Amino acid sequence: MEVTFWGVRGSIPSPGPATVRYGGNTSCVSVRLDDGEIIMIDCGTGARNFGISLLAGVFGKGSGSATVLLSHAHWDHIQGFPFFGPFYVPGNRFTIVGGSRSSELLERVLERQMAAQFFPVQSYRNMGAQLEMRAVSEDREVRVGAAKITAHPNPHGPTQVLAYRIEADGQTLVYASDVGYHKSGPSQETVDIYHGADLLIHDCTFTPEDHAQRIARGLSSLDDAVDAAVKAQVKRLALFHYDQDYSDHDVDELVRRGRRQLDERGARHITILGAAEGLTLTL
Ligand SMILES: [Zn+2]
Repeated sequence: MEVTFWGVRGSIPSPGPATVRYGGNTSCVSVRLDDGEIIMIDCGTGARNFGISLLAGVFGKGSGSATVLLSHAHWDHIQGFPFFGPFYVPGNRFTIVGGSRSSELLERVLERQMAAQFFPVQSYRNMGAQLEMRAVSEDREVRVGAAKITAHPNPHGPTQVLAYRIEADGQTLVYASDVGYHKSGPSQETVDIYHGADLLIHDCTFTPEDHAQRIARGLSSLDDAVDAAVKAQVKRLALFHYDQDYSDHDVDELVRRGRRQLDERGARHITILGAAEGLTLTL
């Protein structure tokens, strides 16, 4: 499978000279499976560029289909939704998977940001493509082509967020953004969901020092990301969802500190990288 980062920032887009290398768009990751299936994880402002890339192929002709996995509906994970070009091409088909208690509720949440007060299109039903809303069911399993996808609720401040484990093509990808673990760290269930991943994309919003000042935000520090990777014995860790005020230099420093921490914990075998807009990894 091929994994591409289109937006790696948390909370709000942060364009400017200090963020050109890692990028300023908010959360969006695409996955292309070997059988051609396309999955988009989260729909932050990075989704706009992903949409443009898809329009060059079958999605520009109205014969594309894809699955969208939403971790939750905070702005930095849905603001690209109204600007995702393939949604406007009649004939394209999308299944939007999210964590609301029912598909109707998920639909209402997404529909609210399309309301006339916020956006001229007024309803996603006016966008053109066929969008089917699907709240994850009790067993939290979703099938996309040959891929087995498991959704897992993690704590995120006063609310919850879904982590996704995607198993396909003999590889495992885990996406775990916007997670604020309890003091005791990730639960055993959470560690099991991450376990053995070939790539763990993990929330790394803050340095440990900044995190201590902002516990209530329900987000992860570098320590949390490293700890989860070590406990779950993953092969590769991609830091993700950086604070909007962190420069490229700050993110470089997060990666360096993360490398040191992994070495100190006897986990030299875990590769660490800073997710960057435009980066593609082949698993
Ligand atoms: Zn976020």
